[in-house]
Amino acid sequence: MSYQRELKPGFESFDPLVLTEKTRKIVCSDDSRKYKDFYKVGVYGGIATGYTIGCNLRCYFCWVGPGRDHPEEYGELYSSSEVVKNLEDVAEKSGISKARISGGEPTLCKKHFLKVLEEIERSSVIDTFILETNGVLFGDDREYVKEISKFETLYVRVSLKSGEPEKWEENTGASKKFFELPYRALHHLWKENIDFHVAAMADPRNTSKKEMAGVYSRVAELSEPLAENIEWETIDMYPNTKKRLKALRKEL
Ligand code: SF4
Repeated sequence: MSYQRELKPGFESFDPLVLTEKTRKIVCSDDSRKYKDFYKVGVYGGIATGYTIGCNLRCYFCWVGPGRDHPEEYGELYSSSEVVKNLEDVAEKSGISKARISGGEPTLCKKHFLKVLEEIERSSVIDTFILETNGVLFGDDREYVKEISKFETLYVRVSLKSGEPEKWEENTGASKKFFELPYRALHHLWKENIDFHVAAMADPRNTSKKEMAGVYSRVAELSEPLAENIEWETIDMYPNTKKRLKALRKEL
């Protein structure tokens, strides 16, 4: 696999749905998926987190480890039951009741993800699962969104990586032809009555006021309150972010 963006300043844009399929072959197996670790983090007032492997974007400001670009070299397969058991153990030990999957795109392995949600629905320890997604697969597959609409413990946060097609390509590495997918995901989530909010890039080193206004008005077309509640994000200089910037010869 040659989607190793950090090694190539002249990287050509890619089709994120093709990358999804290639990555699935490495990190998904029946109802199992590759994970590297399970632990508690402080965000959301404390949340049990499964650090998974595999994503279908290559954001240059991404904080996750090298498993993103080399999924074949990192992580072990865990079944949905093992994942939920590990998340429950972390939650119980820490006296918390929220869980999430981080480190990659949680929706990537569909069968696995749906089974994780099913088991969390029955859990006596975890009462909320927070899905942080880039929206690519939910924009492409309305049926997938329909399938998650039955889970009452689910809350979704869609992270928009850009408000303009060219910037989307620059930020994510994915071709600007696919820029609409995360916006389409918002429409699908809205139509299926799923509880969600939108996060969007707003770092002044990366994003102009015009781009932010564009994001706001596109979200407001769907719902004014949804736009008013956008979580504006900035770029944190994690060690892996610094490495990616350096390799791409980018400065912020
Ligand atoms: S979508 Fe998230 S995990 Fe994937 S490359 Fe972008 S920042 Fe990293």
